[in-house]
Amino acid sequence: MSIEQRYKDIAERYKEIRQRKDAAAVRCGRNPEDITVMAVTKTHTADEINQVIEAGATDIGENRVQELLEKYESVKPVRWHLIGHLQTNKVKNIIDKVVMIHSVDSMRLAREINKRSAAAGITMDVLIEINSAMEDTKSGIAAEDLRELVTEIAAECNNIRVRGIMCIPPMAAEPEDARPYFREAAKLFEEMKEWQLPQERFCPDTLSMGMSGDFEVAVEEGSTIVRVGSSIFGPRNYR
Ligand SMILES: *Cc1c(COP(=O)(O)O)cnc(C)c1O
Repeated sequence: MSIEQRYKDIAERYKEIRQRKDAAAVRCGRNPEDITVMAVTKTHTADEINQVIEAGATDIGENRVQELLEKYESVKPVRWHLIGHLQTNKVKNIIDKVVMIHSVDSMRLAREINKRSAAAGITMDVLIEINSAMEDTKSGIAAEDLRELVTEIAAECNNIRVRGIMCIPPMAAEPEDARPYFREAAKLFEEMKEWQLPQERFCPDTLSMGMSGDFEVAVEEGSTIVRVGSSIFGPRNYR
């Protein structure tokens, strides 16, 4: 396949995902504009990322700090999100490059993000990652530990604003298999909105859930940002 054809495909697939997201929203009575499609770009090149940005993508998700840094300078201005597990010693490298960190799962990480944000003179938006099925292989916290972590962050971290939660359900054969996990996350998210915490540090308006295989189900269950990789860029070749 020629490069031109490949790029055309990326743009077309991105637009198609946007349309499917909009249609899913309309079907369940939501405003399509309340849901963002994030293009997940791990393993893909800066050129490919620029194609999706030209096609209208505003938000890009990367899993690994190193990969984000390798591409950052070559990618057009866009909102970068860090969606993978983040080691504390790497926070300083991305603090001035991303608009949101979706994978906060410990006070230790929150403190480091807070420290680096303060030094950079910014407030970092973060999501707390929930490990819905308590899988050993995944990061994230148990649902029952959410309130304690958020309360502690809000009490201690002046340069963090908690915006909501992120969840990754277990790998499944059918999109419907993810629904109970999405529903559980949405319930937690609604509960969160009732918590009385300082607004400057706690503003729960973001529910990050849904990937290529199940994003329409996630929209039906209340997602505000879906993270779509392979349905836009094709299969990944891990190096
Ligand atoms: C890779 C990844 C995605 C995108 O997965 P696809 O199935 O390719 O759409 C979404 N979220 C996270 C956290 C990821 O690591």
